[in-house]
Amino acid sequence: MIEARETAPPLWQPLPAWQREAAAAALQARARWPHALLITGRRGIGKRILALHFAQALLCEQPNADGSACGRCPSCTYVVNGTHPDLRLIEPVERDDEGNNPTPVDTIVVDRIRELIEFTQLSTHRQRAKVAVIVPAETLNTAAENALLKTLEEPPAATYLILVSHQPGRLAATIISRCRLLASPEPDPDAAVAWLSAQGVPEPQLLLAQAGCAPLLALTLADPIVQRERELLLDELAQPERLAPVAVGARIDAYGKDERKARLADVVYWLLTWTSDLAVVGSGGAPRFNPDREDALALLGARVARLKLFRYYQTLLGQRALLGHPLQPRLVAEALLFEYRAMFAR
Ligand SMILES: [Zn+2]
Repeated sequence: MIEARETAPPLWQPLPAWQREAAAAALQARARWPHALLITGRRGIGKRILALHFAQALLCEQPNADGSACGRCPSCTYVVNGTHPDLRLIEPVERDDEGNNPTPVDTIVVDRIRELIEFTQLSTHRQRAKVAVIVPAETLNTAAENALLKTLEEPPAATYLILVSHQPGRLAATIISRCRLLASPEPDPDAAVAWLSAQGVPEPQLLLAQAGCAPLLALTLADPIVQRERELLLDELAQPERLAPVAVGARIDAYGKDERKARLADVVYWLLTWTSDLAVVGSGGAPRFNPDREDALALLGARVARLKLFRYYQTLLGQRALLGHPLQPRLVAEALLFEYRAMFAR
């Protein structure tokens, strides 16, 4: 069995360069700060970091004249350390009875929102505000969404909800209509590469390409286990005749039970990037996600019709949408790879 990788990102990180301007503009208007804010944008561009910066500014005891957090007061320190009693971070994770060992789960259940409502009704510890960050908000299940509505409609004084979503289309319209929307800024590639280098990521340009210019996703993909599996899978995809779907399935099964879904999600992700690159290279373009595999992509891209690639891409998107549901990772991966192989059959 292969050991689980660390998945929980740190609670607080400095604001990346590509977000500074938008954050400053939003905080300058903090006198009219909305009770509910919904931050939208692609996965992996730092929306969670932005949300926590807003939380820090709202909780800060001596905010700067421009509305930003001072970074020195007790509240600011508590936010950085993840111990602020007036801040709740609500994510789809389950913890053990002592509140340790966070394990990712598919949904935020209604009990978490009931706890949140209780939290909003208590008085503040540090007399500034109460802030809850819900990320990603689309993982709220229907009961949790319904429970949240009343607090969104009539929030207690000085209570701020910050929702973060990269799939706002999955949120109830009644939730969206009660939030002010803020589109997270997109990173420019130079700033993203600089940020990844500062995180100690080797080959930041390649990682950023693999992540489609989403730096925080790139940081996740930099995990050595993820990269090792990518190398193996892309070698196999490059030679469809020798691809053995059952062997790939067995490799997923070699991981612990809790890890298999993450492994399948990675397989689906690499298949999406590879299929997209095949379509681009087949029409004479340069691969966007896998530039290190340009030669293999060029050979294959000439062999498969774009319509087949388009249909296969749709299949992959459909499968990605189902990843949160109970399924057998091994069987799903095998089916997808048999279908991939069939595209190249003579
Ligand atoms: Zn402060």
